Amino acid sequence: MIKENLQEIYQQMAAAAIRSGRRPEDVKLVAVSKRKPIAAIKCALEAGQHSFGENYLQDAIEKITEIPQARWHFIGRIQSNKTKLIAQHFNVVETVDRLKIAEALEKHLATLGKSLDAYVQVNIGDEDQKAGVSVEELEGLVRVFNSFSHLKLIGLMGLPPFNEEPEATRKHFRQLRRLAQSLEDKKIVDHPLGLSMGMSADFEVAIEEGATLVRVGTAIFGDRE
Ligand SMILES: *Cc1c(COP(=O)(O)O)cnc(C)c1O
Repeated sequence: MIKENLQEIYQQMAAAAIRSGRRPEDVKLVAVSKRKPIAAIKCALEAGQHSFGENYLQDAIEKITEIPQARWHFIGRIQSNKTKLIAQHFNVVETVDRLKIAEALEKHLATLGKSLDAYVQVNIGDEDQKAGVSVEELEGLVRVFNSFSHLKLIGLMGLPPFNEEPEATRKHFRQLRRLAQSLEDKKIVDHPLGLSMGMSADFEVAIEEGATLVRVGTAIFGDRE
């Protein structure tokens, strides 16, 4: 099933890219494997899927140790006492949302002599319970990356308010794209920013709005317990 699901998602992704005038190869998939067993990940890997996303650190480290050849994205909430392990084990961190975390990651990476790609998570729905830097504080946080040499800002990540109707989320995706554009226009970053947005329910809408990375779990691996 996993293999068939992946094939279908790749096709849907390519179709969404093409109908919005984009190139299919400019949109990548992160298979969100949280709470899924190693066997499921191996199955996806065999089907050609290379990047995986995990939220729970201890689980993730076991999986990474078992499957080091994949590319691992940390997509969970970051506690500051976990930054060292994230720096050690992951290839990408998508949920940097405050100065303290960014600085701690940079410090550990410098010690390790390693670099790590990062997305800043933006609280685009402005929800109290959600992680992510506020729109007001985004620019300040992004500027800090200019003084780093190991933690490399490659984009913005958004986790909009859940809505069963994917069209309702479009405006949030669009807002994230505009925020990235504005940081580029103001030369706060000196390179184009990627956009990690869109999940099982709404990845096609996200791609139409400019996503360069979609994070899909359920549609690949089935429901989580
Ligand atoms: C779980 C999770 C996903 C995947 O969600 P699905 O609805 O299963 O596709 C994507 N992003 C984050 C941050 C998640 O925690």
